[in-house]
Amino acid sequence: MRKKIVAGNWKMNTTVQEGIKLAKAVSDMVSKLDNSNAKVAIAPPFTHLSEIAKVINPDYICLAAQNCASEEGGAYTGEVAPAMLAELGVMAVLVGHSERRAYYKEDHNTLAKKVKLVLKNDMKPIFCCGEVLEERENNIQNEIVSKQLEESLFHLSSDEILNCIIAYEPVWAIGTGKTATAMQAQEIHAYIRSLLINKYGAEIANEITILYGGSCKPSNAPELFSNSDVDGGLIGGAALKSEDFLGIIKAF
Ligand code: PEP
Repeated sequence: MRKKIVAGNWKMNTTVQEGIKLAKAVSDMVSKLDNSNAKVAIAPPFTHLSEIAKVINPDYICLAAQNCASEEGGAYTGEVAPAMLAELGVMAVLVGHSERRAYYKEDHNTLAKKVKLVLKNDMKPIFCCGEVLEERENNIQNEIVSKQLEESLFHLSSDEILNCIIAYEPVWAIGTGKTATAMQAQEIHAYIRSLLINKYGAEIANEITILYGGSCKPSNAPELFSNSDVDGGLIGGAALKSEDFLGIIKAF
């Protein structure tokens, strides 16, 4: 059975000290949950990773990164190589978040290279895809998501895709307070799974976790997560408050 996952993307928020406090609070709360059905991950800024690795309970929380370089190492000023993240105990890396695509012009070639390198370093890519508002209004969200997956993910072998997590994040719902309805989320998640079935077969497709992201909070998480193809959430704003993040985890 595929894993249920709730992952927090802290973006460029918190100082290291604030981050340590938040990570400790989340780790303590999650360790006390009797029977959480979801795996929990947090993705703090790069500068926090080594300190946060020391304070979380790895039995309950895993460490993720928000990005990585598309090259293995060398003269790439300001970049962080996947191997450097793996060395810190990072288990998963966000690839292709809409903010990276929009503000840093990350294209499908770059994302395809990142995905490969993350896998090469024994971490899991959390590959983000999703349409902007105008595309949703023109009802071309399926075509957009299909192209994003084709171009940056479907070059992988069956063994490789089994180590990937997909996050469907409609850009119009990220940080806006607007959430996709449970039906919209289920429809496109089922569509993504159908693409995986066509490419890799049902057995593999059914093992792949597909997260929903976009203004997810404790009040809407239960309805979103009750859909058969929604396997958890990628959480931005609500991951910065331990109680809210816990409320979302408890939705499982
Ligand atoms: C995100 O940035 O991945 C995200 C889902 O943000 P928010 O939950 O704040 O919409």
